[in-house]
Amino acid sequence: MSSVNPNPLPLVFEQKRGRVKPPRHLADLSADERTAAAEAMGEPAYRVKQVAQHYYGRLERDPAAMTDLPAASRDRIVEHLLPTLLNPVRTMEADKGTTVKSLWKLFDGALVESVLMRYTDRATICVSSQAGCGMACPFCATGQGGLERNMSTAEIVDQVVDAAGRMARGEVAGGPGRLSNVVFMGMGEPMANYKAVIGAVRRMVAPAPDGLGMSARNITVSTVGLVPRMKQLADEGIPVTLALSLHAPDDELRNELVPINTRWSVAEAVEAAWEYAQKTKRRVSIEYAMIKDINDQAWRADLLGDVLQSYGDWGWVHVNLIPLNPTPGSMWTASRPEDEREFVRRLIAKGIPTTVRDTRGSDIDGACGQLAAAE
Ligand code: SAH
Repeated sequence: MSSVNPNPLPLVFEQKRGRVKPPRHLADLSADERTAAAEAMGEPAYRVKQVAQHYYGRLERDPAAMTDLPAASRDRIVEHLLPTLLNPVRTMEADKGTTVKSLWKLFDGALVESVLMRYTDRATICVSSQAGCGMACPFCATGQGGLERNMSTAEIVDQVVDAAGRMARGEVAGGPGRLSNVVFMGMGEPMANYKAVIGAVRRMVAPAPDGLGMSARNITVSTVGLVPRMKQLADEGIPVTLALSLHAPDDELRNELVPINTRWSVAEAVEAAWEYAQKTKRRVSIEYAMIKDINDQAWRADLLGDVLQSYGDWGWVHVNLIPLNPTPGSMWTASRPEDEREFVRRLIAKGIPTTVRDTRGSDIDGACGQLAAAE
């Protein structure tokens, strides 16, 4: 008789990701919760404010530098309020060091990426809001792996604080500078993680010591078109810039390129974008990946122009064309230059302001839609 237990119980149960929450962090806390957090540590309430001043105001996370905290409890306080959320796995540079992609490992092993892009007049961090994504757009690298889990507010905010710190300390080519813009165009569908994303936006716009004091208009939330969430966002009273990933002006093709279109159609998504512009007085952006011979025909440019024109031409919208960044294993590729030029020409002829996005970081797989974090 064998003495080996045929059904050994594992000593450590492997947690399915998403079951355990990320450690709670200062950036997750409301004003009330901050007071409670101080009490739980046996510290006066102003301790939390001191730490917040370091984190948001000075972009400092090292307890050794927080000399206004009592030396004996400094480490304990900081460990409690600023647990490490983003463990660097790797950073990659492109564009002479002005584009920096970071791969992070989260507390449960989930991998996410963020990309810092420095331009002459601004610096933008492209953040992830979910590990993976459930929207399954066939041309997007992240969409191929499915959704792993939502990120917490602090996991989102910390990507921004990290980038702002690197800019401030002069660690990005071009010398010390200021992080001015945030785009939710990394991994994930921000409107599918609404609560954490709005919490993160609130931290970004709140003045120090409660937040980073950024301008809402410099924060762009990009969505596949989750219509109820777009309406909710319009009512938040935070005039962030909204980007709608349209990619096709007709339902037949959009059903394929952006599968959630079978739930909310082109007309419904565009109407929600127009409502957002009306309510917030912010010009919305229509994102359109240019895919050779798939969505870049002249007739589709005309149709897109007509769809957008039907809501008037008071400057509520502009179109941002993104040359497709091919993803591994995909047979799709970027449009021919002449087709792209004609597409732009036709939109402009219909009075729709149109720009073509540059493809920063494409050589380090850090461009739009290439973030996959496959290790
Ligand atoms: N889920 C959000 C944010 C995703 S990434 C959204 O869909 O809007 C930001 C933009 O990059 C989206 O417009 C997305 O459609 C686009 N994108 C995804 N994959 C791409 C690719 N391979 N080439 C070019 N753009 C891509």
